[in-house]
Amino acid sequence: MDYSSLPKVELHLHLDCSMSYDVVTAIKPSVTPEEYRKKFIAPPKCADLADYLTRAFHAVALLQTEEQLRLVTLDLFKQLKADNVIYAEIRFGPMLHTAKGLTPEQVVRTVNEATEVGVRQTGIQAGLILSTLRHYTEAQSMQTVELARQFHGPGSRVFGFDIAADEAAYPIDNHIRAFQYAKAHDIPRTAHAGEARGAGSVWETLRNFEPSRLGHGVRSAEDPELLVWLRDNNIHLEVCPTSNVQTNVFNRIEDHAADLLFRSGISMSINTDTRTISNVTLEDEYRVMESVFGWGPEQILKCNLEAIDHAFCPPEWKSRIRDRIERAYTAQEG
Ligand SMILES: [Zn+2]
Repeated sequence: MDYSSLPKVELHLHLDCSMSYDVVTAIKPSVTPEEYRKKFIAPPKCADLADYLTRAFHAVALLQTEEQLRLVTLDLFKQLKADNVIYAEIRFGPMLHTAKGLTPEQVVRTVNEATEVGVRQTGIQAGLILSTLRHYTEAQSMQTVELARQFHGPGSRVFGFDIAADEAAYPIDNHIRAFQYAKAHDIPRTAHAGEARGAGSVWETLRNFEPSRLGHGVRSAEDPELLVWLRDNNIHLEVCPTSNVQTNVFNRIEDHAADLLFRSGISMSINTDTRTISNVTLEDEYRVMESVFGWGPEQILKCNLEAIDHAFCPPEWKSRIRDRIERAYTAQEG
């Protein structure tokens, strides 16, 4: 099946981990292709999530001015266009970009405005998710969610709140208040969990953060009771197959739980996570699911429709995006 021209929805995508070589050299011309491969792209197998995340440090260092944030956001839109993504949610941690004096508000405003330009230039619909980070203090996490509250609402592209970074090394305690605050202000929530830790981490995330989606959540497959709970409560899993093999959640792609989760009737989508660190497109990920698990258009279509159903965009956008996807798949069959 040729997925290249089919419309796609991507819910789990990190801005700072998706910088093309072109944009890296626009910001720092001295970076050679070898250096880019070594510093920005992870090998097929890292020791763990923490090892994988070291690539993000190089990227974040180049994302410290308004101009850099604008360039990288628009570069990502270009990549999404080439992959025929029609709706994307792009996430980032605003406070990572303040090392050279930008305020967190300036960071969010800049990415928000650049996203607006990207939407106009490409016709891709898009929203932003602000991520707090596992190693943050409670105060930092509250500051991040306060930004989400400030920017969430009509006329803004900020659609949701997330927690990212090293699940294995830091507990959830510092972030419970931030998620409660997001809930109190009707800010949609997703959370990275069930990636570097197992089902216990997913349960505690569900109980304390009350997200409607999980970033990854794939280790839920270790607990049959949890699978039933996720299905019955319509929790959507943002599954990123290649990334999970790189971070050693699964030894080989053949061991990945994606197909089992799908067959369990859980709402899920396929995502890249990081277009640079993982060095993949959505089309690549769909092909992986096809070649390893025998997926076809039926499964990929279902994942795209589940993704838009669970997107954080205004509800009135959803039927239009849904129609576009369904029409394209019908035309491809015919
Ligand atoms: Zn992620």
